Order: sequence, then structure tokens, then C-alpha cells
Amino acid sequence: MASRVIPVDDFDLVIFGGTGDLARRKILPGLYRRFCAGQMPETARIIGAARSEHDTEEFRQIVRAAIIEFSATHTCDEGQIGAFLKQLEYVQVDARGDQGWTDLKALMRDGVIKSYYFSVAPSLFGDLAERLMSFGIADREARIVVEKPFGRDLGSARKLNGDLAKHFDETQIYRIDHYLGKETVQNLMAVRFGNILFEPLWNSQYVDHIQITVAETVGVGGRGEYYDKSGAMRDMVQNHLMQLLCLIAMEPPSRFDPDAVRDEKLKVIRALEPVEHHDIVRGQYDSTEDEPSYREDSGDPRSHTESFIALRCKISNWRWAGTPFYLRTGKKLKARASEIAVMFKDAPHSIFGEEAGRHANVLSIRLQPNEGMTLKVTIKEPGPGGMRLIDVPLDMSFAEALGEDAEEITDAYERLIMDVIRGNQTLFMRGDEVEAAWAWTDPLIESWEKRGDVPQLYDAYSSGPEDAAMMLHQEGRRWREIKE
Ligand code: NAD
Repeated sequence: MASRVIPVDDFDLVIFGGTGDLARRKILPGLYRRFCAGQMPETARIIGAARSEHDTEEFRQIVRAAIIEFSATHTCDEGQIGAFLKQLEYVQVDARGDQGWTDLKALMRDGVIKSYYFSVAPSLFGDLAERLMSFGIADREARIVVEKPFGRDLGSARKLNGDLAKHFDETQIYRIDHYLGKETVQNLMAVRFGNILFEPLWNSQYVDHIQITVAETVGVGGRGEYYDKSGAMRDMVQNHLMQLLCLIAMEPPSRFDPDAVRDEKLKVIRALEPVEHHDIVRGQYDSTEDEPSYREDSGDPRSHTESFIALRCKISNWRWAGTPFYLRTGKKLKARASEIAVMFKDAPHSIFGEEAGRHANVLSIRLQPNEGMTLKVTIKEPGPGGMRLIDVPLDMSFAEALGEDAEEITDAYERLIMDVIRGNQTLFMRGDEVEAAWAWTDPLIESWEKRGDVPQLYDAYSSGPEDAAMMLHQEGRRWREIKE
């Protein structure tokens, strides 16, 4: 099954922060892979723009090293790398000063798509937006791409939105949440809205509850000091987990177009009930014999920041009234695994008697590793000996289904950057969505800060704090095992 690659129109893409970590690990290797796939026109140009002093040749060497280090090996062909590097330029630019802006202007071509990727600290977003306009570099057709974190609370997110809105229209702003670029996340929409099978069951009448888990095995390590100002709620829940929650819970949009989809997502966030403190469990990982605790990693021996959070929330609308959504995410957990699990109710009556046990259907949507979906269904155990029931998975692993092309499943960043060039905002967060998400999380954070809530310690490489397990146990439910 060969995948179809549709080349995009000619473009100039400027990457502010083009020498930074994100650009080297994700953006530039991603662009290179799109180049190898034949999606980038030969004339398209990628312009690195950063404060560091380099010329174009040095920048190309930086990018070559990044591709070799961070691109999947099968695409690292020396000839192709050379051809790709020829499409790169570099300008030294100071976001807060005048240096470099006229050079950048001189480089930009007329008559092609112009996109500006702000891969720099959010404190520079306003400066970049302002200079792009005051130096006459960007016009009303230009697109800007901004990275997370988009604020640390409602006030700061509003300020960022306001700073960008002074110079750019909402239709020009692409707020990245790379979770939305994942193949499975989009497939979730295809499965929900492309089949008649699921949607009639997708409500509180048939769904017992929904679990969303994003588990990492890494700790905060060298990013400890930075992470300590944020914590799992700000770093993961407010953006990634909320986005997944929206896609799983939203009403069918009338069309697969940016505003129709984002309107429906926004309605979900606005319908979230306030969460009480007994609906939240916060945790911090403990030390092991060889590895430091969260507090040691963060550099603050009294830190109250959470490296784990589990919460129970409800959506007040006709579809979901009474159905709990359990969200959890954490660092140094037992496996790197992200999944959404739709846990259906038991059949209303078992004709097979008590001894057949309880068998509920589960649709599990795995985001990493091995993106794919599994539907657990109940069948008769094969062979003689009466009617014994077992659960078997109906497995749709993309790697198997797509055969040789599986390796070519595009990385989330690649897909999203190409969507920017195509001018498709469907998989990007709108300003009001981000603000609504902060408006929901802010009171929760404020309430635990006011209470002086101390996160519960959990063993490194475990499933998280005991209280998180208790939260579901009290309701006769349990978390799904965290496993790769
Ligand atoms: P970084 O510190 O590695 O790179 C920062 C880049 O910005 C460098 O190229 C630097 O030269 C440039 N820069 C700094 N000040 C500048 C100025 N005044 N004018 C022009 N250029 C300037 O940072 P990073 O890790 O690449 O992160 C960039 C952005 O992406 C941040 O907003 C970060 O929160 C976000 N982000 C990063 C990651 C990641 O994995 N690194 C993941 C998600 C989001």
C-alpha cells in the first residue's frame, strides 16, 4: 500500500531559534524527511534565524549533524542530505534588537508562501511578531507557528494571544501541540466519524468511563529547574491531555475543517465541571539506589511541584453526563506508554451465567510506542467443554496494517509543518481553546497552592502514587496497566 505524497507549494520557512534544541531534534530532521519523501519543492527554502553568530555554511553543517543524529537512519543518504542543505540559509537575528532584520527581509521572496516558526522562548513571541511587521517582512498572508508553553496561566496566555493579535490575524497563527500531529490522534477522528459502528455507542449509556494515560520513564533530569516552575498539570494536562480529551469527547463536527473541529473541542472544555481537590492526586518520584528523587533533580529540597498527576473529571452535557474521565500523566513511571482507553459497560444481561464472568469491551488507542488501536471483544474459548468466554483483541497496529510503509508514518512535527505550508489549521489550537483550557486548570492549581498541598511520593518506575489507584478503586474501577 504505497502512501501518496502530495508536494506542497513553493515556500520560504524561517525558523527563529533555528540553532536551538527543538529545531535540531525535531523541526529540521522532520523537514529533511519531507524533502526525502518528495514533498518539498526544489526551490523551497528554509532560513535559520537565531542570535548565534554563524554563516549559512556553518548552519548547514549544524543541520547535517542534526539530521545524522536525529533522523531515522534509513533516510540519511549523503546525496540527499547535500541536496537538502542547499535549500538552507542562515541569518543572524536579534529578536529584541535591530540586528539582522533587513538581511532577513532581503532574503524573503515574493510570490511564495511565507511561514515563520517561533522556536524560541515564549517571552520573545511578541518581539518577533512586532519586528516581522515593523520591518515589513510579514504580510497578511504570512503564517506564524508558535511552540508550547503557551502561557503558564490564563493571564499570561491572554497576554501572548494579545501580543500576537496586534500583528497577526487568528487565521495566520498556528499554535503547535504535537500530540495533535500523531497518526493515531487523527485516526481517532477517522474511526469515530468515518464508521457507523462506534458513534451510536459513544456516550454515557454505553461507555462506563474513559482513561487517558501519558506515562514517561524519564525523570526531569537536567530540565529539573525549568520543570519545577511548571509541573505535570501545566506541562502536560493543560495542553496534551486536554486536547486528547476534547477529541475523544467532542460532538461530530459538521465538516473536517479548522473552525468546525475547534468549535467542537472548545465546547468540551467549556462543559468540563469544576474539579474538587479529592478528584486530584499529585505525586513526586522518589529516589532509587542509583538515581535522585524529583526534589534532588529539581534542585529544591522542599519543592511541592508534581511530577505525576491523576484526576477525575466530568463533562456536563447530554452525551457524557455521569461518565467519569480519568486522566493521568507522570515521569519515571514503569513504562513509556500513552493511550486513550474507552471502557464500555458490561452487557446488560449475561445469558452465560455468573461463572462466565464480566467481559466488557475496551477500545484502546495507543499513541506511543507502536501507534495503533485495539478493540477487546469477547468470544467463546475455542474447543469443547461448554461455553467459556475469553477476551481477544481485534488489533489494528499501523505497523502491520501498512506493511513496508509503516516506517514512513510521518512524525507529528513533519505533518504539522506541512499543514502550516498548506494553510490547514485543523490540527492547531485556536487562541480561545488555549484560554479556555487555562481557565479550567487555573483554579485547580490555585486551590492546591493555597492549601499548601504536598505531592505524595511514589516509587520510581512504578504506576504512580497509591492514592491514584485508590481514586478508581473506591469506585470499583482500576487503572489499566502501564505497559509498552
Ligand atoms: P534552545 O534554548 O535550545 O534554543 C533557543 C534558540 O533561540 C536558539 O537558536 C537561540 O539562538 C535563539 N534565541 C535566543 N534568544 C534569541 C534572541 N534574542 N534573538 C534571536 N534568537 C534567539 O531552546 P529550545 O529547547 O529549542 O526551545 C525553543 C522553544 O520550543 C521554547 O519555547 C520551548 O519551550 C519550546 N519547546 C521545546 C521543546 C524541546 O524539546 N526542546 C519541546 C517543546 C517545546
